[in-house]
Amino acid sequence: MTETRHTRLLIIGSGPAGYTAGVYGSRAMLEPILVQGIQPGGQLTITTEVENWPGIAEVQGPDLMIDMEAHAKAAGTEVIADHISSLDLSKRPFTAVGDTGTTYTADSVILATGAQAKWLGMESEEKFKGFGVSACATCDGFFYRGDDVVVIGGGNTAVEEALFLTKFANKVTLIHRRDELRAEKILQDRLMKNPKIEPLWFHQLDEVLGDEDPLSVTGVRVKNVKTDEMQEIPCKGVFVAIGHAPSNELVKDTLETHMGGYVVTAPDSTATSIPGVFAAGDITDHIYRQAVTSAGMGCMAALEVERFLSEED
Ligand code: FAD
Ligand code: NAP
Repeated sequence: MTETRHTRLLIIGSGPAGYTAGVYGSRAMLEPILVQGIQPGGQLTITTEVENWPGIAEVQGPDLMIDMEAHAKAAGTEVIADHISSLDLSKRPFTAVGDTGTTYTADSVILATGAQAKWLGMESEEKFKGFGVSACATCDGFFYRGDDVVVIGGGNTAVEEALFLTKFANKVTLIHRRDELRAEKILQDRLMKNPKIEPLWFHQLDEVLGDEDPLSVTGVRVKNVKTDEMQEIPCKGVFVAIGHAPSNELVKDTLETHMGGYVVTAPDSTATSIPGVFAAGDITDHIYRQAVTSAGMGCMAALEVERFLSEED
């Protein structure tokens, strides 16, 4: 259906930043429209336990995001299932076009499009994506019951993926290019104590090995980064967990970005290089990238929108 909707505040993204901006924007009587995108609830919907959301010692990521959506709606945010395919920030009102055909015009925009998994960029990784190569253990771990799998990376995501996979897999090899993990100490401790996980330090993935018919992974070839020595590890699944890149497709040519594409905001602010456009959460944060910091930035953005619009009025 093609229609045009006007709003004082358009929020793009439905992770912790977007929903928190919705709560605060609603309470500022801005009657925000929030467009969810293709991952309603954002990155926390692809994890299991979240243990660092203040006030709840342990909560399932998808449950937390259902609650955040309900909270934003209860406060007065109109939550719409659509994905913005283009965003014109050259003049106000700003114009966004959704995949549903709806055009959204807005006096202000909060960008909360978050981040998505990075890939190594090798041909064999691409070839076996969906056929043994994955970036989401929560989504695909179940398929590897009793199998050997490998996880690539050394951050929180890699360690959590490795721990999660031990529920299904026979053995998990964590392949990391250094001998030091970036992951939080508590996660490192759980990793080291888990008898199903074997870390392989100073190694990098060289190639995913597999069969053609049916297309399936049979192992990986890894390289020792100190000696260049190669070895093959038989496995059925390869989980790539080497970090996340900001989802900046809508604004990479219009807003100032830095540090590999993160949207630049003014110091102590969520204001971007275009007045009336604010950015919150992983799209702008190359340092902390946590649910709670994203939510905090969503709050800041909505408060700044309120101030920006009332100064204009
Ligand atoms: P995201 O959660 O990335 O959400 C982005 C939203 O933008 C999505 O809803 C998407 O659909 C939408 N979007 C994107 N493009 C468009 C578009 N063009 N149009 C409309 N919508 C769009 N953090 C913690 O604090 N604790 C944890 O335990 C934790 N565990 C994690 C586990 C995993 C596996 C991962 C990947 C991350 C984890 N994190 C954790 C990090 C945390 O998930 C992120 O910091 C947080 O989700 C970022 O929130 P956000 O609102 O910025 O964006
Ligand atoms: P990250 O912290 O950036 O870690 C990425 C890891 O992948 C690093 O160990 C890095 O190695 C490795 N790596 C990067 N590029 C590589 C390459 N080309 N080849 C081989 N290895 C490579 O990313 P993340 O673990 O996805 O975490 C992202 C953010 O989300 C972080 O802020 C994290 O705290 C947050 N998060 C939080 C939780 C939680 O709170 N429980 C859970 C998941 C994610 P080096 O160490 O050598 O650089």
